[in-house]
Amino acid sequence: MIVIGVDIGSVATKGVLINDDQRYYLMAPTGWSPRQGARDIIKGLMANCSINRAETDMIMATGYGRVSCEEADKTVTEISCQARGISALYPAARTIIDIGGQDSKVIKISKAGKVSDFAMNDKCAAGTGRFLQVMATALGMDVSELEEEEDPEQTIGINSMCTVFAETEIISLLAKGKSKGGIIAGLHQSVARRVTTMARRLKAEQDIIFTGGVAINSGIKRAIMEELQTPVTVPEECQFTGALGAALLAAENLMKDKNST
Ligand code: ADP
Repeated sequence: MIVIGVDIGSVATKGVLINDDQRYYLMAPTGWSPRQGARDIIKGLMANCSINRAETDMIMATGYGRVSCEEADKTVTEISCQARGISALYPAARTIIDIGGQDSKVIKISKAGKVSDFAMNDKCAAGTGRFLQVMATALGMDVSELEEEEDPEQTIGINSMCTVFAETEIISLLAKGKSKGGIIAGLHQSVARRVTTMARRLKAEQDIIFTGGVAINSGIKRAIMEELQTPVTVPEECQFTGALGAALLAAENLMKDKNST
């Protein structure tokens, strides 16, 4: 069985192709056209595996751009995909904290790997990857450099809740000669506080898995663990867990169809 899961995010489009037991991963910036971004990832995965569309049994799309994916046989929400992907990788997982480019969410999952509750912030850029991208630009850095530069011992609390005001606050702190590493640690704390407020409201239980592109930043993981006072695991493929879940759900759909005929 050959299936593809494609997660069309606001920043990056991620794809996972499953060919029996083998998994192949591919990611690229979504760009201005989610439709084209998804097409490129699907074509790229097929080319890498030397297979064609006729040999692919199902394509499942998820993510904010899923409705624009013309190649998809079916679509499914990111919440269901994250739950499916994480329960496959970590059967003991009970809570997922996911921070992407333009939203953050906390998902609780049952022993059976089903979604039991969730909370989401998609109204405000604060607490998302977008917030970190804006702040990195204000600091003259790339978002990938933040983790190495942070200095948690010198954490400077960021008071502004809004991305625009927080940017002004950063510029003002830099002008006052405050430690750059301390400011970055404060930004990490600010993102962590936003998402852990949701996690507490949902009574997050262990094991807690942290996913999304923002999970690449070990400073955010550290700050979340500090806020929750509990260990948090980041999967190696943290940005691909939604696409993986979509591919696994595609395979399950096919099995169900097969069994019912
Ligand atoms: P979306 O699904 O909305 O496209 P992702 O889950 O792919 O979002 O995450 C994108 C975010 O991940 C970016 O906004 C950025 O903040 C963060 N990110 C991506 N790559 C890195 C990196 N190498 N280091 C730190 N953060 C990163």
